[in-house]
Amino acid sequence: MTSRSLDAAQLVTPTSREDAIEAFGDGAELTVLAGGTILMPELNYGRLRPARVLALWNAGVAGIRREGSSLTIGAMTPVAELEAAPEPLATAARSVADREIRAQATLGGNLCATPGGEIPRGDLQAPLIALGARVTTAGAGGQRTEPVEDFLSNGPGGRLVLEVELEEPAGAGHATVGRPHSHGFTILAACAAETSEGVRVAVTGAGSHAVRVHSVEQALAGGASPEDAAENVLKDVQPRDDALASAWYRQRMLPVLVGRALHDLSQKEGTRG
Ligand SMILES: Cc1cc2nc3c(=O)[nH]c(=O)nc-3n(C[C@H](O)[C@H](O)[C@H](O)COP(=O)(O)OP(=O)(O)OC[C@H]3O[C@@H](n4cnc5c(N)ncnc54)[C@H](O)[C@@H]3O)c2cc1C
Repeated sequence: MTSRSLDAAQLVTPTSREDAIEAFGDGAELTVLAGGTILMPELNYGRLRPARVLALWNAGVAGIRREGSSLTIGAMTPVAELEAAPEPLATAARSVADREIRAQATLGGNLCATPGGEIPRGDLQAPLIALGARVTTAGAGGQRTEPVEDFLSNGPGGRLVLEVELEEPAGAGHATVGRPHSHGFTILAACAAETSEGVRVAVTGAGSHAVRVHSVEQALAGGASPEDAAENVLKDVQPRDDALASAWYRQRMLPVLVGRALHDLSQKEGTRG
């Protein structure tokens, strides 16, 4: 592990997973730096002045490991590498920004992305929830592994994301509102996956982070058609206005997108990857 001064901040660059966990400790007064696509402008313009920066570039927490149908994806894996991951993660990864950003941005940074200017920017969160992914983190109290939706609803601050585990689904679906250009943020997207515990559905763009929509899953399990099940999405999600779109627009688009994601899933069920 090396440590040097970066303006007023101390830059710590661990060279192993264990070093990174030790340097992170309980996360107090420390800022984690991954790809920096969100963080670097904040540091460069002085809007953020951390006392210590933990840079994960050499921490050995990047890469995708496959064992049969199970995948373990390191926090520092670039979004570009996820373009070859199981669906609906691959499609969501291909929709993040442009090639340059995707080469730099990481999975961990996307999971921990807080809304910028009230615009949600964690597009990989919904596919991970739909896939039933579990995230391993370190911090106060030691390491823990939990469903991505629990990690997000607890608020990602204060934990060091190490890796995500998921199972390749039997099928997957994805639907999104088209972006006007590659630097436009996603207004709304819906993801669905046929997993070992049934169909899981999640949406992004309707709040500060992605959410699992249990009401749609329950309606499907009860025998509702995809279109009827999709109408339930507003029981779990209360869209709000932001710089990208109004709550009114999102309320109308959400059932449509969830219906399309379920339709997409029904076309691909039984086809892995
Ligand atoms: C022009 C542009 C377009 C963009 N378009 C999109 C888009 O379409 N969709 C989208 O989802 N995002 C978009 N983003 C946002 C961003 O690129 C992604 O969310 C990206 O995945 C963030 O990853 P990063 O590694 O760059 O994070 P960083 O900037 O390094 O960090 C982001 C936050 O996560 C924390 N963090 C990072 N890694 C960890 C970790 N392992 N453990 C704990 N905390 C951690 C950091 O402390 C920081 O708070 C865009 C950004 C730009 C500049």
